[in-house]
Amino acid sequence: MPNLALIESLIKALGQEHVLTDPYDLDRYSGDALSPSRAFGAEDSFERLADVVARPGSTVDVSAILKLANDLATPVIPFGAGTGLMGGTIPARGGIVLDLHRLNKILAINPTDMTAEVEAGVVLEDLEHALLPYGLMPGHDPYSVPIATVAGTISTNGVGYRAGAYGPMGDQVVALEAVLPDGQIMSTRAVPHQSSGPSLKHLFIGSEGVFGVITKATIKVFRLPEAQVFCGVAFDTFDQGFNAAAEMFALGVRPTLVDLTEEDDSILFNMLFEGFKEGVQANEQRALAVCAQFGGRPLGPEPTIAYWESRHESAESYKVEALGKPRSVRWSRWRRRRGFDYLHLGLPISKVLEYRKQCDEIMAREGIRSVEYAIWSRPELFSMLIIPESGTETDTTEADARERLGRTVEQVLQLAQDMGGIMEYCHGVGVKLNHLLAREMGVGQGVVRAIKQAVDPNNIMNPGKLGL
Ligand SMILES: Cc1cc2nc3c(=O)[nH]c(=O)nc-3n(C[C@H](O)[C@H](O)[C@H](O)COP(=O)(O)OP(=O)(O)OC[C@H]3O[C@@H](n4cnc5c(N)ncnc54)[C@H](O)[C@@H]3O)c2cc1C
Repeated sequence: MPNLALIESLIKALGQEHVLTDPYDLDRYSGDALSPSRAFGAEDSFERLADVVARPGSTVDVSAILKLANDLATPVIPFGAGTGLMGGTIPARGGIVLDLHRLNKILAINPTDMTAEVEAGVVLEDLEHALLPYGLMPGHDPYSVPIATVAGTISTNGVGYRAGAYGPMGDQVVALEAVLPDGQIMSTRAVPHQSSGPSLKHLFIGSEGVFGVITKATIKVFRLPEAQVFCGVAFDTFDQGFNAAAEMFALGVRPTLVDLTEEDDSILFNMLFEGFKEGVQANEQRALAVCAQFGGRPLGPEPTIAYWESRHESAESYKVEALGKPRSVRWSRWRRRRGFDYLHLGLPISKVLEYRKQCDEIMAREGIRSVEYAIWSRPELFSMLIIPESGTETDTTEADARERLGRTVEQVLQLAQDMGGIMEYCHGVGVKLNHLLAREMGVGQGVVRAIKQAVDPNNIMNPGKLGL
C-alpha cells in the first residue's frame, strides 16, 4: 500500500506535478525494455508496481527524497530512460521510482580537458548535439543513443559502436556526483586517474543504482575524427574472421568499430577507422593485411557504411513505439511466438571459439539454434541471437519451446562462467541474471554485501538487484 504520509512529503518537496500516483503512470514506470518472455525464471519480479513516481529537478531534491525514503525504509529505484534490457528498473519490492529526466542540463564542455560535465538524465543524443559546435563527440555510441541517459549507461557500464577505440561507458567516466542512501552528496575529483586511495567512482559504475543515485557525471569526450575510413571484409568461416580480429588487437591495431557477424552463412567483418589521417591510413592498411593473412576478402566501404548509418534505427523506432508506454505495449514489441534471446557474454579471447563449439552442442541437444553469432567492439565480447528450432520432435507447444529456450540460456550462461568468463558484457544483471551473480563473483559477492550493508543499512537502493 502506498504510504500517504510519504506521498504528501514528496509533493511538498517537489510539487504536485512531479509526483505521480495514477495507475497508468505506475504501470509505465515499473520496469524497462525487459519483457517477461525473456525473463526466464524471473517472471515473478513483474508482479509489483511502483507505489509512487517522483521526478526530482536537482541534486538537492534527490537528497531530500533519499532522506525521506531512508527514514521510512522505503525502496528507491533510479530510472534513467527505462531502456535497460535486464529489468534493472523493475520495482521488485515496490517503493519510489525516481525518474531523473529533469536532471537534463549540460553543465560544462571543456575542449582542453576533453571532458563534458552533465546531469544524470542527459540523453546521449542531446550530448552529441551539444558537443558538435566544439568539434567534439561522446565516445559511447550504443544503438540506444536516441533514448538512453548518461547515468543509465554508466550504471549498466554499456558498450557502444565506438568501444573498439574508447572502451565501454565506464572507461569514459572521469568523475561522479552521487547521493548516498542517507542523503549525503558525494563527489569525486575530475581527474581521470588517481593513486590517492581507491577510486570511488567505480562503486557506481555498473552497479545499477544499488549504492546511491548518480546526479552528475564528468565524462571524457573526443575530437571529431579528421579522417574516417569504413572497411567491410568477407570471410569463409567465423573462426578466420575471429583470428584476424584477435591478431589485430594483439598488434595494437584499434578500429573504432569492430563487428564480425555470422548470419545466414555470410560472415562479414565491419570495421571503421577514425582519428588523425596518418593513423587512420596506417591502421586500415595493417588491418586489411591481417585480414588477407586469414583469408579475408575486402568488400570496400559500402556494406559497412550502410550498417553504420542504420545503427540507431532500432532505438528510433523504440522511441516512437515503446518509450514511456504502458508495459503491455512495450512487452508486445518483443513478443515472438516461440521466443528468442540475445546474449552478450565475455570470455578470455583464447576461449571464445571453443565456447562457441560447446554452445552449439548444447543447442543441438535442446533443439535451439543461433541465427546470429558475433563479436563486437573487442574479440572477448561474443554474442548470440538464439531461437527455438521449428518442427522438432520435442516441440509440441509454444510453452515447450520457451522452456527449452530458458534451459539453454541457463546452460550457456553457466558455461561461460565455468570457462572463466562472464555471463553479461554490457547490459547489466537486473532481475534477469540476479540468480547467477553469486556463482560468478564467489567470495567477491560477500564483499559487495558488506559494502552495501555499510553504505545502505536499510537496503533502500534498488533492492533485489546485484544479488542483494
Ligand atoms: C533498442 C535498444 C537498443 C539498445 N542498444 C544497446 C547497445 O547498443 N549497447 C548497450 O550497452 N545497451 C543497449 N541497450 C540497452 C540500454 O539502452 C542500456 O542498458 C542503457 O545503458 C540504459 O540506459 P537508461 O538511461 O535507459 O537506463 P535505465 O534503463 O533507466 O536504468 C538502467 C539501470 O541503471 C540504474 N540507473 C539509472 N539511472 C541511474 C542514476 N542516475 N543513478 C544510479 N543508477 C541509475 C537503474 O536503476 C537501472 O538499474 C539498448 C536498448 C534498447 C531498447
